[in-house]
Amino acid sequence: MKTLPERIAAMNALLAPYAARHESRGRMQEESPDDVRMPFQRDRARIIHSQAFRRLAGKTQVFVAGEGDHYRTRLTHTMEVAQITRDRARALGLNEELAECIALAHDLGHPPFGHSGQDALDEWIRSRKPVSTSLRAGSAEGFEHNVQSHRIVTVLETRGHGNGLNLTRDVVDGLLKHGPVALSHEAQLANACDEIAYTAHDTDDGLHAELFTYDELRDVPLTARAAEVATKRGTLIRSTLIDILARDLLDHAERTSHGGNIPTIGLSPELRAELQPLRAFLWKRMYHHPMIIERMERGKRTIRMLCDIYMQHPPAPLNTLAARTGAGAEEAVKDYVAGMTDSFAAKEIARLG
Ligand code: MG
Repeated sequence: MKTLPERIAAMNALLAPYAARHESRGRMQEESPDDVRMPFQRDRARIIHSQAFRRLAGKTQVFVAGEGDHYRTRLTHTMEVAQITRDRARALGLNEELAECIALAHDLGHPPFGHSGQDALDEWIRSRKPVSTSLRAGSAEGFEHNVQSHRIVTVLETRGHGNGLNLTRDVVDGLLKHGPVALSHEAQLANACDEIAYTAHDTDDGLHAELFTYDELRDVPLTARAAEVATKRGTLIRSTLIDILARDLLDHAERTSHGGNIPTIGLSPELRAELQPLRAFLWKRMYHHPMIIERMERGKRTIRMLCDIYMQHPPAPLNTLAARTGAGAEEAVKDYVAGMTDSFAAKEIARLG
């Protein structure tokens, strides 16, 4: 068997010059290296074995988790993002393991009830006046799920001692879209593949739920093109949409790298323009469908009520979490509620409301 440094060198030799190296930029806290696994392989194990990762199964993507067996949950969304990311990372000569870790962790901080959950927590935090004159983190800055994903891996999860998963800086920095560090190519790729995944699977889920018809999708230029390819190949519109978007990403990287430039990782401006009408269609026919809105409003009410109740009467697990992390009252409530699955939040409101 080759030694770990030999295997790392062999893997690095496959990478493009602008890819992240397999040694990683080191961990948040120094730790002795594993004798078998590379740094990003250890990160992937820590993410998949975390409690926050398991809870993704019970969180809404667009449909409330548990509503139908075939609709995406936050967990299956995450796995689709990771799947799309990995394949394109290898094609681009980027670090497949790092890109996969970022994809697997990107939505860990998403609250229950999808985007309405995020909106409700954001409004609740902003409505709380800071108790001291100094602005405390989490009391006036609102809620953003990327920031919460970062907080989960650096503070809220524990490996049995201390706070956080002690991941590599490469993975941790890759979770903040607007952080102090410029995003690596792997992080840019995971972000782009997040959009590719939800565009394709939301179209698929919306069709399945009969929120719109296949014929109506044919009135939108991008899905008309995808439908045509799907008919020709005998495949589903979901897979041809992923293929069209991901191919554009690869072509755009190729075009922008001409003349020895560092490639731009993301959809081309042309495809982005073509995507816009489909996003507008989904916005109107799916995310703002009366049935979806009704469920999302219920989710928002649940979150607002839970936050208010917990501020007055924090339950024991919330106090334990706050004591371990040193969070103030509002932040502890936000951390606790953001971590919940849809069903746990609903059970809590039935018990307390
Ligand atoms: Mg996502």
